[in-house]
Amino acid sequence: MCIVYIYVFTCTCSHTHVYRISTCRPHADPFGNVYAPHSFEGRRAGTPLCGAGAKKFCAIPFVIRGDLDWYLKVLKLNNYNSNTPCALCACNTTTRPWRDFGRSSAWLDSVHDTLSWRAANPHPACGLFLSPLISIACINPDWMHTMHLGVYTYAFASVLWLLAYELLEEDPARNMVTIMRELRAYWKTHATLGHFQGITLSMFSVENDPERKQPQLKGTSGEIKRLSKGLLHVFKAHKRRGFATHAEIGLMLKKWIQMDDILDEHPGHIFPKLPRPVADTFENLAFDSLALLTSVAGHYMRVDPKPLFNVTIKAHMLAHCGIHARFLNPRLAICYGGEDYMKHMKRAVFMASRGTKANNICKKMGDKLVLAMHCEMSAGGHFR
Ligand SMILES: [Zn+2]
Repeated sequence: MCIVYIYVFTCTCSHTHVYRISTCRPHADPFGNVYAPHSFEGRRAGTPLCGAGAKKFCAIPFVIRGDLDWYLKVLKLNNYNSNTPCALCACNTTTRPWRDFGRSSAWLDSVHDTLSWRAANPHPACGLFLSPLISIACINPDWMHTMHLGVYTYAFASVLWLLAYELLEEDPARNMVTIMRELRAYWKTHATLGHFQGITLSMFSVENDPERKQPQLKGTSGEIKRLSKGLLHVFKAHKRRGFATHAEIGLMLKKWIQMDDILDEHPGHIFPKLPRPVADTFENLAFDSLALLTSVAGHYMRVDPKPLFNVTIKAHMLAHCGIHARFLNPRLAICYGGEDYMKHMKRAVFMASRGTKANNICKKMGDKLVLAMHCEMSAGGHFR
């Protein structure tokens, strides 16, 4: 019998673990108890999990999920801090600027398909891309890292900064109390689960020197995502009437909320790709919001110099998310499940590390994980 091994790569943002899993059914449970030969498990022991011969189960990888750091360190794709920061197109900082979000941007003509990417990268550094089934077409920017932990963290922090340091009338600390009171009132009337419990100045700015660096909001991806509607509500109540830049900020937030709503209404298991009219709307929202972001950032760079509305490579990835939506629903490439898994893995590592030599931690953690999965799946009846 041929035993096939599956290598599973999981992203923990800074670490990559490789697990080897036999695809044959085991002869014993994870506690070491050998199955009785005539039991349900005993009769199936040693048979391949994925079938054999003509009945063999096959799968085609169609998306590889991860953040930009993982793409760089593990998949050996472009360095997002370099002059050619994107693996999905041939953008750069000179002739095809990645910050250009117009509909006639030069980089739009250089978006790779499988053939053009293979021609440009004949010797990929990561062995995964040696497979004929895996190419740059399997890479889809992760919506969570692109938006909720990317674009939103800078833009929402900048909106909070404007409210706390400029628009409300009291001192910044008191202003934050007012902002939180208004946010809580909004969350109370518009039932919102998992919102921020509190936001302080230090969560997005340097309190005693607020103009020292670009504000960036700290929080979980879920908290930051759920802030959008309440923040727009509070900003609209305090923005300067008739001031074009404030109107652009409000419109930009509204477009991002619309994009999140589209994804919430289109689960990946029902819509593997967004329906064409919806995908067109999604793409237009992406480019329109990026044009607004560029305009707002330009105002705070040239007209009223303040370190606000940082435009990072995540904004460029948002444009790719918009383009890709007609081929793959961004929810299928979202890393929320992976982040939850990472939380459990951190706990498993912590529990395995007490009183264990460093070189045995991985094995002990793996054993505990197998036991936990066995108990979880047996209790749920998934093996039956
Ligand atoms: Zn690109």
